[in-house]
Amino acid sequence: MKPLVIAGNWKSNKTTAEALRWLQDFKRDMTPISDYMRVILCVPFTLLYTMKEEVKVKELPIILGAENVSPFPEGAETGEESARMVKDLADWVIIGHSERRKNLGETDDLLFKKVVQAKEVGLKIIYCVPDEKTRIPANVNIVAYEPVFAIGTGTSDTPGHANEVCKIIKNKFPATPVLYGGSTSPDNVVSYIQQSAIDGVLSGGASLDPEKFADLIANAR
Ligand code: PEP
Repeated sequence: MKPLVIAGNWKSNKTTAEALRWLQDFKRDMTPISDYMRVILCVPFTLLYTMKEEVKVKELPIILGAENVSPFPEGAETGEESARMVKDLADWVIIGHSERRKNLGETDDLLFKKVVQAKEVGLKIIYCVPDEKTRIPANVNIVAYEPVFAIGTGTSDTPGHANEVCKIIKNKFPATPVLYGGSTSPDNVVSYIQQSAIDGVLSGGASLDPEKFADLIANAR
């Protein structure tokens, strides 16, 4: 059985009360996770402390991640969360998501600075790219191929094409797991993880609903 990663990305969603409710419902709905699977849930900074505590209390098989990190070291950077601060609450961080590339103008150069900061404190990185041509830093832990047309649209890439893109990425970084992301669901997850070059999925919308996310994990298993 190949190692499998199921990652979730809550984006800019959920209050603390909603997050606690999600954890309660996920515990009710989830089926056991196999030891070859890792579930990484990336959530807003505002939820990380509470979720870290509650995941421990509820003994949930969830590894927490953040959705962003500062490109600057700790210091006079108003409104930024430094890598050291993020590492205090999370093991993983998403860097390079298309929404930030597009809506906030994040460039490859800026993203590479974030990678340097994250690596310095031992944060593990899910690095998102919209295609096989986008630059990828050599030392990230997971790469997620997420075509822009598929993110949040309900129109996913075909498993065959996603596999071709992931294969090109994998040829450049043979030791790095590669995920597919873009309108994944409990219904289509198997078609992606069956592909030879796809090691799991990064799921946005489906991860917001505890029942759907639990179903997606169960079907992947
Ligand atoms: C994402 O947030 O990275 C994503 C792929 O979203 P969705 O699953 O909703 O398309």
